[in-house]
Amino acid sequence: MDQTKIDVLRAQPLSAFTHLIDGKQVPASDGGTMDVISPIDGQVITTMAAGTAADMEAAIASARAAFEDGRWAGQPPAARKKVLLKWADLIEANALELAVLGVRDNGTEIGMAIKAEPGSAAATIRYYAEALDKIYGEIAPTPGDILGLVHKEPVGVVGAIIPWNFPMMIGAWKLGPALAMGNSVVLKPAETASLSLMRMAELALEAGLPPGVLNAVTGEGRVVGETLGLSMDVDVLVFTGSGGTGRRLMEYSARSNMKRVYLELGGKSPNIVFADAPNLDEAAKVAASGIFRNSGQVCVAGSRLLVEAAIHDEFVAKVAQAAEAMRVGDPLKVDTHVGAVNSEEQLKANLGFVEIAKTEGGEVVTGGDRILQDTGGYYMAPTIVTGVTRDATLAQKEVFGPVLGVTPFETEGEAIALANSTVYGLAGAAWTSNLGRAHRMVRGVRTGVMHINTYGGADGTVPLGGVGQSGNGADKSLHAIEKYVNLKTAWIKL
Ligand code: NAD
Repeated sequence: MDQTKIDVLRAQPLSAFTHLIDGKQVPASDGGTMDVISPIDGQVITTMAAGTAADMEAAIASARAAFEDGRWAGQPPAARKKVLLKWADLIEANALELAVLGVRDNGTEIGMAIKAEPGSAAATIRYYAEALDKIYGEIAPTPGDILGLVHKEPVGVVGAIIPWNFPMMIGAWKLGPALAMGNSVVLKPAETASLSLMRMAELALEAGLPPGVLNAVTGEGRVVGETLGLSMDVDVLVFTGSGGTGRRLMEYSARSNMKRVYLELGGKSPNIVFADAPNLDEAAKVAASGIFRNSGQVCVAGSRLLVEAAIHDEFVAKVAQAAEAMRVGDPLKVDTHVGAVNSEEQLKANLGFVEIAKTEGGEVVTGGDRILQDTGGYYMAPTIVTGVTRDATLAQKEVFGPVLGVTPFETEGEAIALANSTVYGLAGAAWTSNLGRAHRMVRGVRTGVMHINTYGGADGTVPLGGVGQSGNGADKSLHAIEKYVNLKTAWIKL
């Protein structure tokens, strides 16, 4: 990555961002705007439309009309594929510009953002574009005088609500399969990370997506998100974000048209290190990056370190050393390891968790503080807290910040029990040289993803989803397509 190019892009003034409705850029119907504050320095970098319920209703109506007249769903699969492939190419061609815009908005370090955001979004769109003309219906094994067919039809209008940590990557996890299967989509980006996703949506139009097939409305979740959730004209809601909002979406569905709701929620993922791990130095470095990258604002972050008691002190020292070696700071410098926390509110919440941990007997081994305050931005030192008991707040509640809680264990059974002692079940890892133990951990730990001797980095070919209060209905892989189709039976007397 070229630092000079990044510096040129970051200095570019940004014009005001509007909604994207019916193929046009439109301001909020009442003219309202919201300031966009950069977590890098706390400065206002632009404004975006503060959507109203009427704006969201217009977007939904546009998506519905586009679906009903078949301008997208009615196109031959090869034509839809061509548009989506072109979109992926455009995302790639504009990758650095999109990544820098996103980082100015949400604070992720650029080294991670360039791969995880435009890089991963383009790969995801391409994956579903290439899949869409290889998905068949079924012929049932019926009696000879009957033909039983199972069609896979698009569901109609999909509402997609996206969080702030990886807006383009997570946006693409929803948009790729939804659009590939012929649906129309109404997108609602997060208040504190809308810009890059809005630009990515504009590129879809440039690639040839017909107007109205993808609409995007910015603004407060409680206003435009709620209108989307309560709409009688939205068929499926797909969401990534917090458990509290997920609960509300289920209520909205129950109070309106009982639309299907798929939730990808938070986690408290256990990273379990046995004394027989193949390489403790490597395990320590990965444990540190597995919680501290993107300032811990990663749904699968390994936020609970469970360490076999025999190596506890030695291993914690290694993780602390790795944490202290991470450069925290300006996320637009290519050599930064950990960027900014997304908002001042999130930073305060992170620090609050550290204070609670101290009152509950935890000991801060490294970090624990706000740093680089003179920049005006929101930065926190990678933080490790030992002595975290099974029921402590830090063991039970998702922080979504750079805070690692450490708990020792004696036996494999105790490790599994500790791992399964939260309401979550998103991801986890076990480090061991024992093949049998590795498989027992995969079976025993209740999560959607289990890593062995590594952490994170699973690509688009495998599903990502949680169990328990981490959600339902995985993103990624061909399995995700099931969320965006209805099965229709045709029972034909011959
Ligand atoms: P959030 O729930 O606060 O916001 C997510 C989105 O929901 C935003 O677009 C927001 O505007 C919208 N929203 C808020 N209130 C709403 C309402 N009443 N009705 C409709 N929409 C509403 O979550 P966040 O803080 O942006 O994201 C962090 C959370 O996301 C963490 O819990 C994290 O673990 C989770 N996450 C999960 C995954 C996963 O794949 N499981 C991935 C990334 C993040």
